[in-house]
Amino acid sequence: MIGKGTKVYSIFKMKCPRCHEGDFYKGHPYKYSTMGRVHENCSKCDLKYNIEPSFFQGSYYVAYALGVALLIAVSVIKLIFFPEAGPLDLLISIIVSLTLLSPLLYALSKIIWINVFVKYEKNILKKRL
Ligand SMILES: [Zn+2]
Repeated sequence: MIGKGTKVYSIFKMKCPRCHEGDFYKGHPYKYSTMGRVHENCSKCDLKYNIEPSFFQGSYYVAYALGVALLIAVSVIKLIFFPEAGPLDLLISIIVSLTLLSPLLYALSKIIWINVFVKYEKNILKKRL
């Protein structure tokens, strides 16, 4: 289901959306010095990641959607497992989870955004030889 060739593979492995081989990010999402920094090109298929100037500004929409999804998930978890907890507890848990997961959500938003525009090409690396 999440094998090579699917967008899910590219997103969760954080690989190039076209060849699924080259790394998309310069480092781990939680490594402060490289947080959110994308390579210029794919090291395998030479896809230019920044397709046009300010291309990744569109990923803010995805980051917003991911943030809302996290808010809903935390609210549902609170309702199921801690029904007696008050609204202040919910607010604190949302703030803590957003703070802890924001580097990951930021990284996911960029890779999801580029996967909207770039399709997987199975034979791209063979063509380039
Ligand atoms: Zn590539």
